[in-house]
Amino acid sequence: MWKIPLFDIGFNEKEMIAVQEVLSSGWLTMGEQTEMFEREFADFINVKHAIAVSNCTAALHLANLSLNIGEKDEVICPSLSFVAGSNSIVYTGAKPVFADIIDLSDFNISPVDIEKKISARTKAIQIVHYAGNPCNMDHIMEIADKHGVYVIEDCAHASGSEYNGRKCGAIGDIGCFSFFSNKNMTTAEGGMITTNNDGLAEKIKLMRSHGMTAMTLDRHKGRAFSYDVVELGYNYRIDEMRSAIGIVQLEKLEDDNIRRREIDQIYNERLADVCCIKVPFNVKSDSSSHHIFPVLLDKEISRQGFMKVLKSNGIQSSIHYPPIHLFDYYRRNSGCHEGMLPTTEDVAQREVTLPLYPSMRDDDVHYVCDSVIEYIKKEQDN
Ligand SMILES: *Cc1c(COP(=O)(O)O)cnc(C)c1O
Repeated sequence: MWKIPLFDIGFNEKEMIAVQEVLSSGWLTMGEQTEMFEREFADFINVKHAIAVSNCTAALHLANLSLNIGEKDEVICPSLSFVAGSNSIVYTGAKPVFADIIDLSDFNISPVDIEKKISARTKAIQIVHYAGNPCNMDHIMEIADKHGVYVIEDCAHASGSEYNGRKCGAIGDIGCFSFFSNKNMTTAEGGMITTNNDGLAEKIKLMRSHGMTAMTLDRHKGRAFSYDVVELGYNYRIDEMRSAIGIVQLEKLEDDNIRRREIDQIYNERLADVCCIKVPFNVKSDSSSHHIFPVLLDKEISRQGFMKVLKSNGIQSSIHYPPIHLFDYYRRNSGCHEGMLPTTEDVAQREVTLPLYPSMRDDDVHYVCDSVIEYIKKEQDN
């Protein structure tokens, strides 16, 4: 296997005990663990409502639906992201309209391009805090206010990220978090929706569970005997085992993110001045969750060769991301084509993501840096 994997989960006996306690309790879904997980997550993000769901894709889908986004509507989103973001827009019947990233040192969606892409049909802007680096939310909220459109924050990378003293996920109308196994905190599969809007929260809670007015727990506790169905809902529920894991993982998040920052700093110090390689987001604030560590190779460096050499040294690397607008499905169905988003396309061909996880030792980080520097030197000599 890998000497240094791309990411690693940080479970110990605490998660095991939490799951065992749920199993022994006999209450497996939509119970007190989920209520507690939601309350603690809401407090952490400092929002009124947090609603736990089965994954972030479901969260994004419900976010769009709760804002009444549907056919003939457009939602602006990045292409340099995971396909779940734009898929969740397509599920509603709306059209994802892709905006380019800022530049080669900031891979976040460009507010300038967002504004260019706003039309009479635009209903929302769905941004991603790439690698955990907060987008320029002041500018994005200003554009949204000016044009009367909603803002959804895809915070899949940004558990714990802050922007001007506020947590990501508390700034737009709705925040969507992922607890997939490679994210900063994980429940294996899982997600969370955050909002300060009471009406949206109520609607999202209904839609998470078939649009039903009374939950199993209410009926169990004798609070309700029957139910009505008042929205077209889904089964996007989380379960009690996952919520119990989530409570433990949330406790570890801040320390984990501090360790991630230290690793990020070592990478930065060692790689910032290496020629043929650029480190984006290098004017970093302390407010990123440091979800991943992306680098940009110069055009003359072969990415495949680079990743192969890392692999032969036992180091796993990845690409974030193949651009969504150039996927076959999006070319065929959303009128996408090459040349639409020049900066996204350029970065997508040259980006490589290096390993980053809290249990990574300083030695491990130096080993990755040594491998990177050695390869670059060899390439230059050729
Ligand atoms: C992981 C991820 C998602 C999807 O999360 P799931 O919980 O796996 O559904 C969405 N957007 C981004 C940017 C992601 O990284």
